[in-house]
Amino acid sequence: MINHVLESMNEVITNNYDQSHQAIDIVPSDGKDTNIIALESGTVSTAIKNVKSTNHKSKGLATYGNYVKINQNNGKTALYAHMKYNSVKVNPGQHVNKGDVIGTIGETGNAYGKHLHLEIQNSNQTKENPIHSLNKPNTNTYTPKQTNSNTYKSTNTTKQSTNITKNTNITKNTNKITYTYLNAPNYHYGSIVDGLKSIGSDSSYNYRKKLAKHNGIQNYRGSYSQNIKLLNLLKNGKLKKV
Ligand SMILES: [Zn+2]
Repeated sequence: MINHVLESMNEVITNNYDQSHQAIDIVPSDGKDTNIIALESGTVSTAIKNVKSTNHKSKGLATYGNYVKINQNNGKTALYAHMKYNSVKVNPGQHVNKGDVIGTIGETGNAYGKHLHLEIQNSNQTKENPIHSLNKPNTNTYTPKQTNSNTYKSTNTTKQSTNITKNTNITKNTNKITYTYLNAPNYHYGSIVDGLKSIGSDSSYNYRKKLAKHNGIQNYRGSYSQNIKLLNLLKNGKLKKV
């Protein structure tokens, strides 16, 4: 995930987009209350903030509980649902910048457990898979810790319909050092072992230990937080292969 929608930046997708659920559900990996941040800049069109509780019998828009809708500057509309009572920070007509806090994760409306239900509507007024908004930009530039002067480019190709895995070769302009990165953009669950298996990679403890060391994660013991770090690198195509 390149674009964050949780302030804690530890998103785990628990429910994917399909025809019966034209949205994705997201929770923080640590289960803590976290703020929801705007994916893109835009103008708030709706901000419902007075829903006090969960209601499994709710219908229509009430199923969203407290929710915010933002007409994004890129022509798309984002809807963030089930926010906690009294947490919504924005009002209709207000301009928000990408990354601004709009509310807190909750379970108001027809929700089972705290989560963010995120819908994205494109400029044709049809709902699209929000994973595209989370994974954009598809071409990102970042600088690994080993250097502070050279720029590496990573190209993430995301294909929803297939499990194609792309190993991206990253070439340093000056010294021609080439790293190969493991990349599992189509893996949306919370296990590094399953994530590695999903791309046909070794997922043993010993291999993960080597990967951890190679990627700057010290004293790998297979702890939850270490595994989440590995997983986030893998999902973002930034896990350096050993
Ligand atoms: Zn949902």
